[in-house]
Amino acid sequence: MSKSPLYTVLLIEDDAGDALLIEEILEQQECLARLVTAERLAEGMSCLQHINCDAVLLDMNLPDSSGLSTMTRLIDFAPGIPIIILTGDSDESFAIEAVKLGAQDYLVKGSIDGKILKRSIFYAVERKKLELALKQTRDLFERQARIDYLTGVYNRLMLNELLEAEQQRARRSGADLSLVMYDLDHFKKINDSYGHTVGDHVLKEVAQLASNNVRAHDILARWGGEEFVVLVPNSDLNQAILLAEKLCCLCRSYDFGNGLQVTASFGVTQFRADDNTESFTVRADEALYLAKRNGRNRVESI
Ligand code: GH3
Ligand code: MG
Ligand code: MG
Ligand code: MG
Repeated sequence: MSKSPLYTVLLIEDDAGDALLIEEILEQQECLARLVTAERLAEGMSCLQHINCDAVLLDMNLPDSSGLSTMTRLIDFAPGIPIIILTGDSDESFAIEAVKLGAQDYLVKGSIDGKILKRSIFYAVERKKLELALKQTRDLFERQARIDYLTGVYNRLMLNELLEAEQQRARRSGADLSLVMYDLDHFKKINDSYGHTVGDHVLKEVAQLASNNVRAHDILARWGGEEFVVLVPNSDLNQAILLAEKLCCLCRSYDFGNGLQVTASFGVTQFRADDNTESFTVRADEALYLAKRNGRNRVESI
């Protein structure tokens, strides 16, 4: 019984002679690869949409695309596919540039034999796998660095960065900027009465409720435990108070499951030209403290 090929390789090459040579070399490498061919970049891209390919052998000078842009266009189109550049003696420096821009390897036409091709395809596929796994890990770390693991909103670290940026913007442009800080009322009792899992559920719902009711450019973050903030660009104190009232009302009237009700206290303040992150957030916290002291489930501002 014949074994099925290890890889499916797409060859994008407009020179029939060069293509034939690659085909013959691959045929001699039994079971290495099934070859799919295309003569133009557009045709190659279409193949990638319909056929599951493991690697691309790419001639950069094609009827519909030439030079490095052939490779960058292909990478943009299919970032997950390893690309091996096929090049003539005269344009080796181009091929080196292509590798710097993301190709896995290059092969000089005329110097290709079965061993070289086999090795190049194998390494290209394996290196690309590693590259993708690394990228996934990096994306995950980047996400974890700025997103609160429980609620999915920004964490304090990210908020601090955005606070700096928004304050700078407000200073520069003179645009309004306000801060709403809120804290769930008697939340300890929720945990004590219903358990930590229900407490976590409430925190997630509270974050979702706010997320669904702020504008796209408002910045929602978990400040800590059961405390959240909304940084509200282009809003003066009164506009931010209205937002806080809306969130306060939504929270109070929301059913967190089996009739469970939770309220929150809100502190609101507007950015002043001589503020820094410390003074701006402390004032919001003081307003929040006032709301607690004045009976909770309400909004106060300074
Ligand atoms: P107050 O109205 O004065 O804010 O009272 P409170 O009970 O909400 O405030 P307190 O600071 O006494 O308690 C906050 C509680 O929030 C205690 C803590 O266990 C709980 N908490 C903080 N983070 C989390 C979390 O991630 N999950 C859960 N379930 N509870 C949390
Ligand atoms: Mg060509
Ligand atoms: Mg609380
Ligand atoms: Mg608290």
